[in-house]
Amino acid sequence: MEQAKVKFEERLDEALTHRELPRHMTTDEIRIAGPAALGGVPASALVRSRHRLATVGQWNERQLMGRRWPIGCVALEITQRCNLDCAACYLSENSEAVHDLPLTEIFRRIDMIYEHYGPDTDVQVTGGDPTLRQRGELMEIVRRIRARGMRPTLFTNGIRATRDLLQALAEAGLVDVAFHVDMTQGRRGFASEAALNSLRQDYIERARGLRLSVFFNTTVFSGNFNEVPEIVRFFVRNADIVSMASFQLQAGTGRGVLGSRPLHITIDSVKQQINLGAGAPLCFDTIQIGHSLQPLRNGIGYEQQSLRHA
Ligand code: SF4
Repeated sequence: MEQAKVKFEERLDEALTHRELPRHMTTDEIRIAGPAALGGVPASALVRSRHRLATVGQWNERQLMGRRWPIGCVALEITQRCNLDCAACYLSENSEAVHDLPLTEIFRRIDMIYEHYGPDTDVQVTGGDPTLRQRGELMEIVRRIRARGMRPTLFTNGIRATRDLLQALAEAGLVDVAFHVDMTQGRRGFASEAALNSLRQDYIERARGLRLSVFFNTTVFSGNFNEVPEIVRFFVRNADIVSMASFQLQAGTGRGVLGSRPLHITIDSVKQQINLGAGAPLCFDTIQIGHSLQPLRNGIGYEQQSLRHA
């Protein structure tokens, strides 16, 4: 088992060096990538995380994992269907043919997340687009996560995330909503990232006044790299509602047609674009959330307070 783990980590490191992810994982690798074995009651999950980070040399005063939370977050995929077809989509070619998991299995997974990581764990309800599940089912899933003392977050492209739905989900215990909006999505009627700001504004208004933190996810690719400063200016103008802006570099994985990332799009070049839009140099290593194979490769590229006050 240990040998397979080392081999997988070597393969992943090699792939990251060449800016691409391995396409397939073996059965052994999938087993290794699973949650760590339970070592005690949920309350000890923090201690286990701290120990794990110390073992890989990534325990420091800026590290939140093991201090505030036992894990950065857990993604709970409740459907693989989506009403968009992004050019950088990470799903597989066959995702539209995959049946949704029954609620009983999703509930089992929620309970398993709790058993491994305990209360206050951020659970990203994601997909595909999770709003494609029946509304009643989505409500049940959010309620179940909340009832276990964890923090449900909705990851959506926003198309079906109406004000009415967001309000009902907030009342059911949702704490954050993360909207994915960018030019890789090919939305009709929008010719540039700057044009998409009107859609972002619409999403902001849908969530305004609800007990929800609002996040935006943006994939950076050659088609919008030059516009990153403009998007950042938009987020700064709306920092009364937007709590976090996440910029994710195009990854050559999944069904998306974009393929490998151009060489000029790097963590450092995107940081420069963000600083340009913020009008000030932001601190990109104030906090760390979890561990990566090599420090800084996890690309924590935002600073909430700086965005708020820029
Ligand atoms: S990246 Fe997200 S929004 Fe885009 S097609 Fe894939 S699942 Fe849908």
